[in-house]
Amino acid sequence: MPKPGELTFVAPRGAKPPRHLADLSAAERREAIAELGEKPFRADQLSRQYFGRLAARADEWTDIPAASREKLAEALLPELMTEVRHVSCDDDSTRKTLWKLFDGVLVESVLMRYPDRVTMCISSQAGCGMNCPFCATGQAGLTRNLSTAEIVEQIAAGMRAIRDGEFGGAKAGEDGEARAVRLSNVVFMGMGEPLANYKRVIAAIHRLTDPAPSGFGLSQRGITVSTVGLVPAINRMSEEGLSVRLAVSLHAPDDELRNELVPVNTRWNVEEVLDAAWDYADKSGRRISIEYALIKDINDQAWRADLLGRLLKNHRAHVNLIPLNPTPGSKWTASRPEDEREFVRRLQSHGVPVTVRDTRGQEIDGACGQLAAAG
Ligand code: SAH
Repeated sequence: MPKPGELTFVAPRGAKPPRHLADLSAAERREAIAELGEKPFRADQLSRQYFGRLAARADEWTDIPAASREKLAEALLPELMTEVRHVSCDDDSTRKTLWKLFDGVLVESVLMRYPDRVTMCISSQAGCGMNCPFCATGQAGLTRNLSTAEIVEQIAAGMRAIRDGEFGGAKAGEDGEARAVRLSNVVFMGMGEPLANYKRVIAAIHRLTDPAPSGFGLSQRGITVSTVGLVPAINRMSEEGLSVRLAVSLHAPDDELRNELVPVNTRWNVEEVLDAAWDYADKSGRRISIEYALIKDINDQAWRADLLGRLLKNHRAHVNLIPLNPTPGSKWTASRPEDEREFVRRLQSHGVPVTVRDTRGQEIDGACGQLAAAG
């Protein structure tokens, strides 16, 4: 909260984030440049600076005449977000950043360094309207959708932090060996339901994966979109010709329990969600990741593991078990280790591949389901 007398700018409710280069497709960028009365090739120059060199400040664009720089910056590269703070844990290999958007709205993103890669978990909405009772983000409801550029800027900021050595992974190890320092994986598992902000999320995927100068040139295979299971949106995504991974937050194999854990299940049930997912798997050629937060005595019974195994066997699926991360006020906790082991064993006995996700970022409330962006 601001201190008394401190000035904060809060835009009127419903005001849109300012237009930014990353909102625009290559064709729209050329159009915008023409409207500014600039030479057409400036569109590529500016894109190369932003996507290729991560240079968002006009004084870095030495290939563009000074007279044009300010104009371009003002029209196409407004500052979309400012860092409020970041916190690190896990020996500095996990870092959560709190961002303030142009209208004062807060969102979070998390960078995670692994021996062979860096993954960034980003937000697609401020808050979330899906209301899953075990997730901290859902408790305050949806504030608003993020714009394409607000999604892309989280990645750009992560890439800049890595490049500038701010994130531990960028430095060479003590032995002088360089570590894996490039951002290669992006998961839409921060705040929000990505498929409820469909158009902007798909556009963001294109900015992330288009080759320079149009985008960051990341591999689609390194990107995961995680959804509660909005069936019409999954079907639409199947027609996009993408090869990003789809993760479905299932959490229960039966409608009775899933209606409670993932309330949107009352609209599209387990069978409908899985059918849509299998179709996406066929079209994209990618295995579906089935997300399952293990909650003690709620969804971790052996019979539910068997039911899940029967639903998934012979399909292109992989189960990602997530030990429940604690959230404020929740009565639920993670499963007992022996129940978790039995759950894994039963799934495997059905021939279903399964992994248990680490609980990265738990102590900084940066793990799955803990992002609440409290100022
Ligand atoms: N709305 C999307 C993406 C955001 S959540 C979705 O629901 O898929 C990313 C993952 O974290 C989802 O699988 C979500 O169900 C899971 N999650 C939410 N709260 C959690 C918690 N407290 N502990 C463990 N996982 C949680």
